[in-house]
Amino acid sequence: MELTGQSIIGYQRGGNTGELFYAFDPAAGEELKPPFYSASPAEIGKAAQLAAASFQTYRQLMGGERATFLRRIAGNLEDLGETLVERATRETALPAARIRGERARTANQLRFFAAIIEEGSWVDARIDQGDPARQPVPKPDVRSMLEPLGPVAVFGASNFPLAFSVAGGDTASALAAGNPVIALAHYSHPGTAELAGMAIRDAAREQGLPEGVFSLLFDARQSVGKVLVEHPDVKAVAFTGSRAGGTALGKLAASRPEPIPFYAEMGSVNPVFILPSALETRAEALAKDLHTSVTLGVGQFCTNPGVVVTMAPADAFAASLAALMNQTAAQPMLNRNIAGAYRRAVSERSAHSRVKSAGGQPEDVHTEPKDADNGPDNCRSRAALFQTDAASFVAHPELQAEIFGPSTLLVAARSREDLLNVARQMEGNLTATIHGTERDLREFADLIAILETKVGRIIFNGFPTGVEVCNAMVHGGPYPSTSDGRNTSVGGRAILRFTRPVAYQDFPESALPPELRDQNPLGIWREVDGRFTK
Ligand code: NAP
Repeated sequence: MELTGQSIIGYQRGGNTGELFYAFDPAAGEELKPPFYSASPAEIGKAAQLAAASFQTYRQLMGGERATFLRRIAGNLEDLGETLVERATRETALPAARIRGERARTANQLRFFAAIIEEGSWVDARIDQGDPARQPVPKPDVRSMLEPLGPVAVFGASNFPLAFSVAGGDTASALAAGNPVIALAHYSHPGTAELAGMAIRDAAREQGLPEGVFSLLFDARQSVGKVLVEHPDVKAVAFTGSRAGGTALGKLAASRPEPIPFYAEMGSVNPVFILPSALETRAEALAKDLHTSVTLGVGQFCTNPGVVVTMAPADAFAASLAALMNQTAAQPMLNRNIAGAYRRAVSERSAHSRVKSAGGQPEDVHTEPKDADNGPDNCRSRAALFQTDAASFVAHPELQAEIFGPSTLLVAARSREDLLNVARQMEGNLTATIHGTERDLREFADLIAILETKVGRIIFNGFPTGVEVCNAMVHGGPYPSTSDGRNTSVGGRAILRFTRPVAYQDFPESALPPELRDQNPLGIWREVDGRFTK
């Protein structure tokens, strides 16, 4: 498939007069062809208008028809074969094996939502039958279910060019629920975005779906996205990326004349608590596994363990981890902005009066990437290990900031109370991890109780990187890890973000949606007069 660099507006292509930009290969230090063109205000308006016009038809398709659409997208993505792998590898410097794995995960995610909507019970149908004879007033017949919101704008992140991007979980769950999607291509992987966008457009066309059920817009730098969030035809936004980006766009969504739901999945430091028994019995293995988790994908994961709390003495563990961090070679990061932000953050932390550099980065890590220098070393960054004590961590909230990259901060607690204090002071995170024994879990029940109020997922004797796509998964957490901690962007519940409940009171059977009719023609699970039944 030939890349054109032009936005996909329904079944048409955008023009080639908007602001121009190129993808950049961070490993080779060179620009990639072709040029990409930012969508014009007229093209953004056209994509939104087509999406709004397609909504009435698309939302009323049966779950099975939308499931076919999602499965076609998955198949088209797979059919892109090595073309997709090569382009994504060049745009991100991520290894081909990782991209192949991510493509499989993305296709599986689309099929996962297809299965959910084909089965149909996700609509949460509730029926309270009427009773005209009730005294003192008759009881109305009330039936409700979840229904889609309307066009959803999707902002993907740079670090998952497939699974959290154009055809990723937000798009899959929004389309599954019956919403058209307008995706914004990330400037860091526009070619990968265009390939995924063509896979979705072709799936829509093959199935004869109304034009506008999907569009993809290019943006040289943060202008198209703002117009999209403010467009009156856009009814919800899903964002994955930095806290700064999520906060800025969230304010726009909230200050519209018609405020809309805005779901931002942002950064996180994912604290790991290593309890004394784990440290006594497996310090070496823990250091090795932690090092793998911190440096995986050059540390560019929202689930990267950025804070590790131990109870003294943890010297042997810290020394093993430092030795591994020292041996870690510099690797290219996703783009120059991310490499620059990482080096600035490492430099600031090295200079913090309450923090000690404990391993990893040599002096040259402080060098800023230079815009004029596109050399292959410009995006390479080294691992960085820091140490502090619990009292300093609690007194300095800036130490909770995410450093997006292969870095972690060891926090030494002197007592159980010290460790609990760290947990109490943690802000909202996607995950927390506990290493210990089952007996520890009983003895540290208060730690679990604190973490339950702070994170979306608690892991026992594992590491937070690697998020399983399954019905029970929670990939979310209290602010600031997300803008709204009641949601998840991965797993079956992700679909709920793009719906709202609608109740029908005293409607005749023939005018009700099939999900709410007496005979239950779709055979879904429903709550009828307080009882779950098929
Ligand atoms: P990013 O720089 O925030 O970019 C994400 C998207 O938002 C891009 O399309 C970007 O547009 C847009 N954007 C950012 N700031 C904006 C603003 N002020 N106005 C308009 N648009 C704006 O994030 P990233 O560097 O791609 O991703 C890294 C971050 O994502 C890390 O913090 C990581 O932890 C987080 N992340 C979170 C999850 C999760 O599930 N919680 C998953 C993956 C990554 P431009 O391309 O034009 O800048």
